[in-house]
Amino acid sequence: MSSLRFNALKETLHRKPVHIEENGRRSELFGKNVFNEQAMRQYMTKEAYQSVMNAIEFGTKIDRKIADQIAVSMKDWALSKGATHYTHWFQPLTGATAEKHDAFFETIDGGGAMERFDGGQLVQQEPDASSFPNGGIRNTFEARGYTAWDPTSAAFIYGTTLCIPTVFVAYTGEALDNKAPLLRALQAVDTAATAVCKYFDKNVSKVNATLGWEQEYFLIDTALAAARPDLMMTGRTLLGHSSAKGQQLDDHYFGSIPTRVMSFMRDLEQECMLLGVPVKTRHNEVAPNQFELAPIFEEANLAVDHNSLLMDVMEKVSQRHQFKVLFHEKPFAGINGSGKHNNWSLSTNTGINLLSPGKTPMKNLQFLTFFVNTIKAVHDYEELIRASIASASNDHRLGANEAPPAIISVFIGTQLSAVLDELENVTKGKLSPQEKTDLKLNIVGKIPEILLDNTDRNRTSPFAFTGNKFELRAVGSWSNCAGPMTVLNTIIAKQLKDFKIEVDTLIDTKNLKKDEAVFNVLREYIKASKNIRFEGDGYGVVWEKEAEKRGLSNNKTTPEALKAKISKKAIALYEEMNVMNKVEVEARHEIELEEYSKHIQIESRVLGDVARNHVIPTAIQYQNTLIENVKGLKEIFGKDFEKYAKEQIDLIQKISHHIAEINSKIEKMTEERKKANKLEGQKNADAYCEKVKPFLEEIRYHADKLELLVDDNLWPLTKYRELLFTR
Ligand code: ADP
Ligand code: MG
Repeated sequence: MSSLRFNALKETLHRKPVHIEENGRRSELFGKNVFNEQAMRQYMTKEAYQSVMNAIEFGTKIDRKIADQIAVSMKDWALSKGATHYTHWFQPLTGATAEKHDAFFETIDGGGAMERFDGGQLVQQEPDASSFPNGGIRNTFEARGYTAWDPTSAAFIYGTTLCIPTVFVAYTGEALDNKAPLLRALQAVDTAATAVCKYFDKNVSKVNATLGWEQEYFLIDTALAAARPDLMMTGRTLLGHSSAKGQQLDDHYFGSIPTRVMSFMRDLEQECMLLGVPVKTRHNEVAPNQFELAPIFEEANLAVDHNSLLMDVMEKVSQRHQFKVLFHEKPFAGINGSGKHNNWSLSTNTGINLLSPGKTPMKNLQFLTFFVNTIKAVHDYEELIRASIASASNDHRLGANEAPPAIISVFIGTQLSAVLDELENVTKGKLSPQEKTDLKLNIVGKIPEILLDNTDRNRTSPFAFTGNKFELRAVGSWSNCAGPMTVLNTIIAKQLKDFKIEVDTLIDTKNLKKDEAVFNVLREYIKASKNIRFEGDGYGVVWEKEAEKRGLSNNKTTPEALKAKISKKAIALYEEMNVMNKVEVEARHEIELEEYSKHIQIESRVLGDVARNHVIPTAIQYQNTLIENVKGLKEIFGKDFEKYAKEQIDLIQKISHHIAEINSKIEKMTEERKKANKLEGQKNADAYCEKVKPFLEEIRYHADKLELLVDDNLWPLTKYRELLFTR
């Protein structure tokens, strides 16, 4: 068995970077394989083009006849690019993307053939997708699922397939995917934010949420990874003693990028350019063999699609470079895991970033309005945000002193804190002319200057204001951004909607001027949401205690955290904002609980297998060598042998001890699995979390001890130092 490990090492050491040609300037490559505005103008009639643009901007329906025209243009464009197939590209609740390709090719009478694609095929498809998770929706309703074109995310060609971004819904209307609720949340935030913008600027007619994600990942040589069944099956190492050198020296972060990795990155970036994914930043991350990629931010729905697409493209490109890309949040114990910061803001059709202060007092009051409302929304729904980032794999990262804790809080920096403190003292009701001037000039008016030299950063905060956007840092590297983005935009929509009602009421009933009413409502929000603001060290135990006093949630495990998703409050929120109905919310909750249990179940089975069938036999083999050695010493030295065999005998005993522990723990773990499997839903997930999961660590402890005791020549699994430092 160990030959697999040594062959893998040899193979890895002989690798050369793949040669990558730059196929032109990046700006020339950008969007070449995307049916974007430029391509649409070239291939479509004016009428069809306008119809798509209206659908994007105002959500208007596309007429069936026009859809036929669009389909023909799309097909012509795709064929000109060498495409042979098309697919409805969607994001089922597995978290990954799904595609089923159909050829444009069709036979015609007389033995000939032609390429065809019509509006019907563009707009709607019925994939036989019965195997995707649906949380009972399709069984209960006996309804089939269909995919429907999302014109707000442009079609693109990947390889030789035209990919059409779609939503996946049941015929009864329930969403079966990640995109449909996101689109509804974005609609809700657009409506609510546009209405609030009108206080400040009548020209605003649309508000887009923007998202810029930062994707962290590991790259491990394919041969080395292939010698680890745990990595291949679960995406993380379930055992492995830590390497003597890890990230202690901080010598990887922002260091020079290894050449093989650089080839991979350049290859990947060119693919991204063609697909219109505007990737911009690349660098080494903290842990050895860990890297990060970030794009220029985009409208949130597009950015979510692009992140899902990117993860898929990364897997494909990495194969060309003999790398396995790891998206797991914690592939290796003892060194940093990976996250996916979600940078979020709101932007108007007039080109204003609503979380960026402006040049006039009015613009700054607008900034403050959105700023304070965001904090208030996070305060009111912190538990739902925590739930939106929960997964079995992300549980390893949250609160592990490298990533934000499971407690959600907001960091805004000392200067903005001071501004909010001042605003708390605004007079109730009507403001004197003096106070108004003072507010506008000295408090609100100073905001841009404050932010200019605001270098305040707090890496430990899960939700931090970073100058012109908020950064949700608790999202896991493996997750689909749609989950957290749906929650964030829904709660902001709800908050802004309530804000508008309160301000209007003050204007109507208390006869306040618009700005007076705004100041009055903001003052109350600042007071009400104080508990969520935290400027200190989010990693410390002190904060955990303080947060508890403040009544903030601290749900450390996924089964615990997910409960917030089906609370009365959450369901009421989703229904009010037309994002999801009760059936959809409950179905998703069920799917996520089940996914959690399955995840732990797979890890538990894989560890059982590896420990029993790889680790123990290797340990016994080495133990036998030791026994032979002891026997030989006895032959030579007679009764004196113990003097010379003491260490060996000690080792033999230690090995036996660890083998016995592993065996008995595997047995107990299997028993717990059996018991857990008899339970359902929450109880099943709780059992996996509380009864099965602890054994993973306990078994690992003994296996890792054996790794240290056993002859390196015999050890079958690639070791941490090899996985992390061979490139
Ligand atoms: P850093 O936060 O690391 O200093 P940047 O401020 O340049 O780096 O941005 C990090 C990420 O935030 C990038 O992906 C960027 O596209 C994104 N970003 C910047 N501005 C916005 C915005 N207004 N809305 C959403 N994302 C944004
Ligand atoms: Mg980063």
